Amino acid sequence: MTAPDTSRPALALYLHIPFCTAKCGYCDFNSYAGLEHLVPEYTPALVRELELWAPAARRFEVRTVFFGGGTPSLSSLADLEAITRAVRNQYDVAHDAEWTLEANPGELTLEHLAGMRALGINRLSIGVQSLHDDELKMLDRIHTAERAIEAVEAARAAGFDNLNLDFIFGLIDQPIGRWQETLERALALRPEHLSCYALTVEPGTALYYQVAKGMLPEPDPDVVADQYEWTRDRLALAGYRHYELSNWALPGRECLHNLVYWHADPYLGIGAGAHSFFAGQRFANVDAPNRYVELVNATHEEREGVGSATMQQIKGGESPDEATMRADAMILGLRLMEGVSASAFEARFGDSVQSIFGPAIQRHLGTGLLEWARDRLRLTTRGQLLSNEVFIDILPDAAPTEAYRA
Ligand code: SF4
Repeated sequence: MTAPDTSRPALALYLHIPFCTAKCGYCDFNSYAGLEHLVPEYTPALVRELELWAPAARRFEVRTVFFGGGTPSLSSLADLEAITRAVRNQYDVAHDAEWTLEANPGELTLEHLAGMRALGINRLSIGVQSLHDDELKMLDRIHTAERAIEAVEAARAAGFDNLNLDFIFGLIDQPIGRWQETLERALALRPEHLSCYALTVEPGTALYYQVAKGMLPEPDPDVVADQYEWTRDRLALAGYRHYELSNWALPGRECLHNLVYWHADPYLGIGAGAHSFFAGQRFANVDAPNRYVELVNATHEEREGVGSATMQQIKGGESPDEATMRADAMILGLRLMEGVSASAFEARFGDSVQSIFGPAIQRHLGTGLLEWARDRLRLTTRGQLLSNEVFIDILPDAAPTEAYRA
């Protein structure tokens, strides 16, 4: 991998496509089924928002672009072409930028994949989740295991040489052997990157209500821990570097875009509900796609080209204070296996990690969940299993922000 040009500040661009064919029972992302009728208005709104932000982003070099969702792979090639053209025309994009697109294997065709590759998308993140049909059904996924494998093969045939596969383990009543079969089959596909998340029962999801009503049990934390430990060992043996709590990569194939989140570096989120960390502020767009379209259109007409101030009009999320931003940086950094550099933290925030988080650090050096590795504070192997216990003690006094879930 060539060293990035560090002469200009880097920016990551996130583009949110909120549409899905069906809403999965466990999903609490800002995604919607049955809103396809909005697509013809949504793409132009996204392009307009890109135009509105462009003046404020002029001094940055865009090094990563990430189409997330929702299901961006549902977007037509014409829509993707309009968006990628707007990015290239309006922003200074590095020639070797990482362009990732999240894809649902249920709807991928070779033709569509080849078209996306021709548009410059050079990394695909495929939501496989499981390679057992009964588990996929339980998760409300629209594809089968066989279809997912075909999608990976089609992506290779279309020229993608940088693939992430997303998986969920710790499914309800899932014996470890079933997860092991899924991961072994995934390894046979030799993806460059694997994201393996434990199932979480998020408030507001269909799964949450099923668990709350006693229709389904909660995932067993001991089984989840066993599965995680086995995953760590197995992927190390297969040559994958564990670089973030839930992410593994072949050497040099880490997700550069997600590293921006974990390093708490600047990113600009475009689209409904998209979060940003830009010009020293965290903010989010309004969630509802129809409201987003209305607000962008109104903004465009009234105050075209004003840059970041303009976007106050489509803001929907919180604007955290300084204490929360420091806690964000600490928690996101601890998600990385390399941990948080104490000197870099102090250079950035003007105070040492000890002066801000001293009691929490001392407590978890004591519990064995944190350790120092020279200048870096990081989770221990056991701390990786119990990271939330550390994170809760680092939070100022609030619930975790969206940013922790990147
Ligand atoms: S496809 Fe992805 S974004 Fe859409 S509902 Fe399912 S998990 Fe959520």
